[in-house]
Amino acid sequence: MTTADPMHEVFERARAVIPGGVSSPVRAYGSVGGDPRFIASASGPYITDVAGREYVDLVMSWGPGLLGHAHPEVVDAVQRAAARGLSFGAPTEAEVELAEVIRARVPAAQKVRLVSTGTEATMTAVRLARGATGRDLIVKFAGCYHGHVDALLAEAGSGVATFALPGSAGVTTASAAETLVVPYNDVAALEAVFAERGDEIAAVITEASPANMGVVPPEPGFNAALRRLTAANGSLLVLDEVLTGFRVGPAGWWGLDGAAAGGDVTATGSEPWTPDLITFGKVVGGGMPLAALGGRAELMDMLAPTGPVYQAGTLSGNPLATAAGLATLRLADAGVYAHVDSVATTVGDAASEALEAAGVAHSLQRAGNLFSVFFGEAAARDGVRSYADAQAQDTFRHPPFFHAMLDAGVALPPSVFEAWFVSAAHDDAAVEAILAALPRAARAAAVA
Ligand code: PMP
Repeated sequence: MTTADPMHEVFERARAVIPGGVSSPVRAYGSVGGDPRFIASASGPYITDVAGREYVDLVMSWGPGLLGHAHPEVVDAVQRAAARGLSFGAPTEAEVELAEVIRARVPAAQKVRLVSTGTEATMTAVRLARGATGRDLIVKFAGCYHGHVDALLAEAGSGVATFALPGSAGVTTASAAETLVVPYNDVAALEAVFAERGDEIAAVITEASPANMGVVPPEPGFNAALRRLTAANGSLLVLDEVLTGFRVGPAGWWGLDGAAAGGDVTATGSEPWTPDLITFGKVVGGGMPLAALGGRAELMDMLAPTGPVYQAGTLSGNPLATAAGLATLRLADAGVYAHVDSVATTVGDAASEALEAAGVAHSLQRAGNLFSVFFGEAAARDGVRSYADAQAQDTFRHPPFFHAMLDAGVALPPSVFEAWFVSAAHDDAAVEAILAALPRAARAAAVA
């Protein structure tokens, strides 16, 4: 790329004033190379960069864009809210409505606290679990990402996986020692940890269905086993639905694989189960900075001001963000989920067929309407059920695949450890563009 490219010029300016030129590491093209696209605007399934190039988007802001970019009714709701004032630092009726909508969809969230990011939601869940149990240890699973909370960065997915980091510098030894990391989908390993230190464990936190090491769904009964083990040991179960919540279905992953009213528990062979705490983000804010923590009422009441566990935020429940979340959830009806599911099936199938035709061994894995590709013979043969499996894939096939798609006008996640996101706005034209781009990209992956 020449320096005459307006986007390259912006990137050069960015790098001079922003570490790596990006406000969040996953936006850098760290593992695929090249300049990240600086985006000028987005509409429906498309994003347009500052050089005027348009791409079909398969990132959708890493999840929030369930309805597509800049849905007119969501934008209108935000504009109307903005005209009434940007932030009050006082409670609003819209926050109550959003909490009611969340609880109606996910009854396990008996009470809800609104925050601004998924990281705040999981950080608060960890503090609340420790406050409620009087215990210090947190158990997480390798490859699960829960935001950049000190206690939760060990062997994390997302950018930590992309850049192949064991965790993060700056996390104290004491903090790291209070986090126990267990392989995903391994009930025996978790049983062993509980056998040894069960009475010290405040909580087990898990992605409802992991999508930050690529898509690695829980095996049938895995989440139910977490519930059994935590309950038997007096520990809490924290279900992180920041990514899956309100995306894979009206009640998130729990609605598909848990105890949500009407949830099809037979589909996964799982007995009904209910977490103590649930975190939400992404879709719940409709593209604005909003996330939430929900859970059993008596636990949630341990938060200040009713309880001793402190948590706060100047911009929590921000009126613009609340308006975007409410508008998004009101619009996200059965038709939306049916369309997103069907586009996900079409695109996932087409990606797998193109790779197959090009002779690229791979595993296309799904969790509801989330999916991702793992490259390599082992993935193709055995599937990917843990972070170790995900790391063992042929990661070198992703950069050429990614860039061939980008050259053809389709923006994939710039990391092989991320899910592909589709939206209700991905119409036939957008899907056709993706399908047309796949065969050449698959051939590029084959010769890598
Ligand atoms: N939990 C999960 C499962 C996530 O996917 C993410 C973000 N990708 C987070 C927590 C953190 O959310 P945020 O980036 O809003 O802090």
